[in-house]
Amino acid sequence: MRIFDLHADLAMTIKAHRDNGEKAVLRNVWHDRFMEGELLYTAAASFFRGEEDWEYMQDLVRMVQTDIDESGIKQILTKEDLDENDLQVTALMTIEGMCGIDKDGVERVEWLYKAGNRIGSLCWNDQNALATGNWGDPGRGLTPMGKDVIRKMNDMHMIIDVSHANEKTFWDILETSEQPVIATHSNAKAKCFVERNLTDQQMRALAAKGGLIGMNACNSFIHRKEKKQDARHLAKHARYISNLVGVEHVACGFDFGAYYGADEHHDLVSPEQAQNFIRGLEAEGFSEDEIKDIAYRNVFRFLKQYM
Ligand SMILES: [Zn+2]
Repeated sequence: MRIFDLHADLAMTIKAHRDNGEKAVLRNVWHDRFMEGELLYTAAASFFRGEEDWEYMQDLVRMVQTDIDESGIKQILTKEDLDENDLQVTALMTIEGMCGIDKDGVERVEWLYKAGNRIGSLCWNDQNALATGNWGDPGRGLTPMGKDVIRKMNDMHMIIDVSHANEKTFWDILETSEQPVIATHSNAKAKCFVERNLTDQQMRALAAKGGLIGMNACNSFIHRKEKKQDARHLAKHARYISNLVGVEHVACGFDFGAYYGADEHHDLVSPEQAQNFIRGLEAEGFSEDEIKDIAYRNVFRFLKQYM
């Protein structure tokens, strides 16, 4: 079963290898592993934790583009690039955190779009000039410049990612954005209580606006008990969210630890293991049609409409 992964920290692995003098990292290190896991469509996120400046942001984004080009990997830049029958590895550049935008918000987010990014979150867990992440002041949400950036993203059809936003920022974004938004890598708080998972109320609001929720395979987001941190139990989040808001709002956003060297050892930490999640969905009783929706069709439909 083909899969579209909405969140992958590929800039981190690309940078680690390129700093070692390697090139075409996506081709040489990851391509065959994507194919093995049938993870054909992947986000390629440039990640910024809070202290990076604008020059660093631009450099990292350019590096990701260079590696995609050197690797000969197909890239999604327009709706026309979305082809469900295309069975080759395809990348969609995304931004996780925009701390480098400390001024000129509208111009700089436009630069990010023109540089190829089609999904972006305004913050990681940090609190920055645009928004407030999970580690920031709970009473602080979007800033006025953050609201301008949301409107500009709407105008450009750049998709807004609310994973990592604190609750106040989440609600500010839902109020400000005219377009539906995506939580690229967040699970259900009711199934696993960590800050970054979403409350039922958040998921209902996100779904009512037409958004998507990408299932996150990071161990601590799946289950409190280590033994239950696996693909089978991630599928239980998909079941819970489908029952709550509808299967049409569920997607994949694995945030695989393999891309950044996380110390995780369950059965869903790397792209070649992606089909374990499909088997988990089967065990949860999803039909083949529903599994296709969760695996990639919901994302295709969303991007075809809103990109
Ligand atoms: Zn993240």
